[in-house]
Amino acid sequence: MDLLRDSLKDTASEQSLSDRLLHWFSDVKRDLPWRKTGDPYAIWVSEVMLQQTQVKTVIPYYERFLHSFPSVEQLAKASLEDVLTIWSGLGYYSRARRMWEGANYILQQLKGEFPRNYDALLRIPGIGDYTAGAIASIAFGQNVVAIDGNVKRVVSRLLAWSEPVETARSYRHLRDTLMTWQSALQPGDFNQALMELGALVCTPTKPACLRCPLADVCKGHLEGDFLRYPVKKPKAQRQVVTRLTFVLRKGNQVYLQKRSSRGLLADLWEFPGVELSQGDSHSLHDDLPLIDSEESFDLFQKAVPQEVFFDNRVKDQFQRGLLWQGPVWYTFSHRRWKIIWTVVDLSEQYLLDKERWVSIKDLRAIPLPVAFSAIIEQLYLLKT
Ligand code: SF4
Repeated sequence: MDLLRDSLKDTASEQSLSDRLLHWFSDVKRDLPWRKTGDPYAIWVSEVMLQQTQVKTVIPYYERFLHSFPSVEQLAKASLEDVLTIWSGLGYYSRARRMWEGANYILQQLKGEFPRNYDALLRIPGIGDYTAGAIASIAFGQNVVAIDGNVKRVVSRLLAWSEPVETARSYRHLRDTLMTWQSALQPGDFNQALMELGALVCTPTKPACLRCPLADVCKGHLEGDFLRYPVKKPKAQRQVVTRLTFVLRKGNQVYLQKRSSRGLLADLWEFPGVELSQGDSHSLHDDLPLIDSEESFDLFQKAVPQEVFFDNRVKDQFQRGLLWQGPVWYTFSHRRWKIIWTVVDLSEQYLLDKERWVSIKDLRAIPLPVAFSAIIEQLYLLKT
């Protein structure tokens, strides 16, 4: 490793790796809204949104979010539901909820003053190593690194790092190496330049090494085996779970209920549903599970408010047999949902306690899990 560091320094002796990277960045960097601000709050918003989401998708959400909540104080004082509504469509809603909790921490524990260094930023709920490093270096010029997936990929290729990048040992190794390369004068630009290199040149499957400013010192490239990096741990197989979903419909309205504030898709609205026992034999394929009307009704009782059972129209539909649709597949980090869904019509005059009825045409404005998007699209098309 020391040899490689030395070789990187020697090869780039006339112009350091950092200088070359910064020079390249100033020539090619994209004109993005969050690059025009030094406001740590706005940088925080952009960094959170950019996690697992593409730049072009993020831009309108970023602008809309800052328009609705222009400061950390305004974010903290907003209701969580309003925040989730503005976030709606961007997915991974726990990011918005954690940011809202972080804003409340800043308002209540720090009297609204945004922390100005990496260690203090790390104490904010929802801010981890990467985001703290990005905000501290970009907004406050602190000499710290910010290692996201792009940076891990680039650096592991530069070093031909042969261990899985997800481990703590690899993280320490990449961080320590980056600290020896980093620009003392422009740490924020250096971190952004590495991310930009990963986004524009050193992409996951087709790195454009001919356009890379670091090609002559990149060990992965020089070995001709750059796609071997980053080395990943073998993936544990995702568990597939079949979820039956019941869309309760009354005229042109549908019923939503709120998920618990813990666990998967916490605090989001959803169509009532129930998971079948894990690993059922149909779960891996596109075919629909065979569920007779008695079993359907048992599962329905687990999923929906009790009052619904007394609606005669509902009973009729179960006796006639439900029309199941799907599957809609949705992948979380550790599991896949195979969603099978059906519409159950309620009598027009039927009321539910604690009901939450939403017009179908307004569904897109509600913070529903992206997992249900395909169902919502179908509901627009279905006739009542
Ligand atoms: S030379 Fe190729 S593999 Fe190496 S950092 Fe540049 S783009 Fe990535």
